[in-house]
Amino acid sequence: MADLYRNYIGGKWVDARGGATAEVRNPATGEVLGVATQSGAEDVAAAVAAARAAYDPWRKTPAPRRAEVLYRSAELIVERKEELSRMMTREMGKILDETRGDVQEAIDMTYFIAGEGRRLHGYTTPSEMPDKLAFCQRVPLGVAGLITPWNFPLAIPSWKLVPALLAGNTVVLKPAPETPILAALYVRILEEAGVPPGVVNLVLGGDEPGKALVDHPDVAVISFTGSTETGLKVAARCSELGKRVSLEMGGKNAAIVLDDADPDLVADALVWSAFGTTGQRCTACSRIIAEAGVRKLVAETLAERAGQVRIGDGLLPQTQMGPLISSSQLDRVAAYVGIGREEGAKVLVGGSRATGAGLEKGWFFSPTVFDGVKPGMRIAQEEIFGPVVDVIEARDLADAVAIVNGVKYGLSASVFTRDINRALKAVEDIHTGIVYVNHGTTGAEVHLPFGGTKATGNGHREGGLQVLDVFTEWRSVYVDYSGRLQRAQIDVERPARKS
Ligand code: NAD
Repeated sequence: MADLYRNYIGGKWVDARGGATAEVRNPATGEVLGVATQSGAEDVAAAVAAARAAYDPWRKTPAPRRAEVLYRSAELIVERKEELSRMMTREMGKILDETRGDVQEAIDMTYFIAGEGRRLHGYTTPSEMPDKLAFCQRVPLGVAGLITPWNFPLAIPSWKLVPALLAGNTVVLKPAPETPILAALYVRILEEAGVPPGVVNLVLGGDEPGKALVDHPDVAVISFTGSTETGLKVAARCSELGKRVSLEMGGKNAAIVLDDADPDLVADALVWSAFGTTGQRCTACSRIIAEAGVRKLVAETLAERAGQVRIGDGLLPQTQMGPLISSSQLDRVAAYVGIGREEGAKVLVGGSRATGAGLEKGWFFSPTVFDGVKPGMRIAQEEIFGPVVDVIEARDLADAVAIVNGVKYGLSASVFTRDINRALKAVEDIHTGIVYVNHGTTGAEVHLPFGGTKATGNGHREGGLQVLDVFTEWRSVYVDYSGRLQRAQIDVERPARKS
């Protein structure tokens, strides 16, 4: 019988009250990996109540002690890195090197943020008045609702959960319906690490528990990662409810290749950036904007390299690219390839479902390179989220930057050149949250802020110390030790100016 993955509420593993379940299947093989309970609003209400009850004791646990529990969770993830990585490959398809990277990011994030347990600094400042102490401190918000996608099933939950807990919040995690297993394995680790009952709660299922979490009046903050379409709905609802919300949403990431770029580096970097995680990274490169002198070479080299990518089950050592997450994602990618053809772009390689021995039961799509793409085409404007990359010609750097910026998204971009002046001009003028020089558009590090401009985000950042701003607010404290009434905000006599 398939393993059953359940909710975790108030320190107990429980079935959703409605009794519904859904199978979890390996997108490369169709193998059933388990069955996940499917939650409704009443399960969310129970999870929020448990989180609410655990909030005061957790918020009053000294931050360095909270951090110790998180350190222990990182150590357990280190011990189980291989087991978690292999299950992640089976659950969502990306190759083992990538799932090991995903697990490592959770480890890195936990060690990095747990260090803040002893550095959750506010500041002291001189008061306007004598005999008065003034300082400010970070305080938690309450119950944090965390809603996550399937493409980084451990890293993304950890980017949210670790800073939320460190700051003294309690959480309810609602992972993507495609990846309940990794979420459950993570929560088991947190339980083993000694997170007290109610501090972390897990509700599995589809969009309904996500909506219920956003709607719940006792949830103080929502941290969401997913598509822009869903994120904007979440934001609208949070705005109605006066709730804080942090959004990490879609992208249409671009790499500029200037005439003087190193062609081998460009090919290596962009194959990885466009087809890593089967193009399903939020930072995946989906537009290559090349100066006229190198466009043809870049497109042909990339097409040749794309044709050599070995597709298959991510558990096999020779595999370089796994499947898409689902049949609906496969249909979506195929539909966009059709749209690109109709718009007049030319498919240099790929463009269809990948077939062959070992691929029969999975959602495999061939790495696809479009040439002759114009910046206004739908394939150059909309997020496809698959192994499809456009090559667009630009007249010069200014034209290339205008094309990079000419989409509604703003997550990551890169520029390839050996000319430092042109590189830094590009950095200055590109309007994305992350900019790379001589590197693809993927590869964030946890100690720098992560997030995007425009329709990719709403100004918050994950990663870096900036993430603490999502999960805390500021309390200003004034202590008057004069023993008399000192009136603030009343005009007082100041020393007269000598004329
Ligand atoms: P999605 O928007 O379909 O779902 C994300 C999560 O939201 C899931 O857990 C889903 O169940 C939940 N959800 C759906 N409707 C909801 C609602 N009305 N209220 C509350 N929750 C709801 O996204 P996905 O397909 O899981 O992930 C792919 C998308 O995520 C892509 O657009 C990708 O660019 C984006 N993404 C962005 C980043 C980033 O940091 N910017 C990182 C990873 C993925």
